[in-house]
Amino acid sequence: MRKLALFDAKPYDRPAFERCAGRAGIEIKFFETKLSRDTVSLAKGFDGVIPFVNDALDREVIDGLAQQGVKLIALRCAGYNHVDLQAAGDRIAVYRVPAYSPHAVAEHAVAMLLTIVRRTHKAYIRTRDFNFSLNGMVGFDLHGKTIGIVGTGRIGRALIDICRGFGMRVIAYDARPAADVEYVPLEQLLAQSDVISLHCPLTEKTYHMIDETAIARMKKGVVLINTSRGALIDAEALLAGVKARKIGAACLDVYEEEGDLFFEDNSGHILEDDVLARLISMPNVLITSHQAFLTQEALDAIAETTIQNAVDFFQGRDSENRVRCMEKAAEPALSR
Ligand code: NAD
Repeated sequence: MRKLALFDAKPYDRPAFERCAGRAGIEIKFFETKLSRDTVSLAKGFDGVIPFVNDALDREVIDGLAQQGVKLIALRCAGYNHVDLQAAGDRIAVYRVPAYSPHAVAEHAVAMLLTIVRRTHKAYIRTRDFNFSLNGMVGFDLHGKTIGIVGTGRIGRALIDICRGFGMRVIAYDARPAADVEYVPLEQLLAQSDVISLHCPLTEKTYHMIDETAIARMKKGVVLINTSRGALIDAEALLAGVKARKIGAACLDVYEEEGDLFFEDNSGHILEDDVLARLISMPNVLITSHQAFLTQEALDAIAETTIQNAVDFFQGRDSENRVRCMEKAAEPALSR
């Protein structure tokens, strides 16, 4: 029987993975610890590992996996920017789950947008304290506003449909335009949008695509949403933009340095990251801890595809979910 080790296991991961692995005749062992240089020895005796999105699979970890005889890295996420594909080479096959529920992420982006615009996060706290004052609660209509969507893949498209339902004007930026969307250069998108939402992957080209220069181009009062990858935004530049009142609000489901913090209860600890602490302290910054994907539908789909990827690999079947090193080189050449 094939054996897989799932790292960074959370209670909400287990039911779907147990069900899918059981159906496929695969034994699965859950480790609560992250997959790292310190824990890679736990992979000994397993055919494959299922790491988490924030487990850094650098050369050292991958060398360790190869030494333990591991042949498969079955990512349970879409992005693979945390994996050294060159180090994996031909020694270890890397698979991903390209799509699980684009609606989960798009709907979370909208949930954050409506929350920040209509101040429901403040209202919830106020009314629990029997404070029914409306002072400071003035929002604005989304109807008639312009949203700029960066990246119109699966999630970006789902968001476009939702925003059109709100009666918003949608403009977009993507190297691979689709037919029925108004595409503009990134500079124009930044300058024209009342709301900007990021849905492109993190690559060398998109790293810090929202920096001081990009923020300077934006409308005063813009609402910035990032449910994609933290490092798309230069967090220090964002904080400066919020303090300067240039950025009207920020909704962040991801954060540049989230790796050691997100997904864990740090409530008893002193937060070392001053930028994050300052952002959290802002009344117009809403932060969730990388939970945009977290719906039951998405969890079921993630487990289903991850286990199917493993089955395909073990049975020597080709799969478009396999990530190869050249995919990084084949990324579209995009200018900002
Ligand atoms: P996708 O591959 O379907 O779409 C990505 C789009 O981005 C493509 O159309 C691509 O052409 C475009 N793109 C690439 N480089 C670009 C650039 N420099 N500028 C503008 N557009 C560019 O991916 P998806 O399923 O829509 O997911 C988008 C991202 O969302 C993922 O890369 C992942 O980082 C993130 N994500 C986050 C969560 C979460 O829980 N917060 C969950 C899933 C995915």
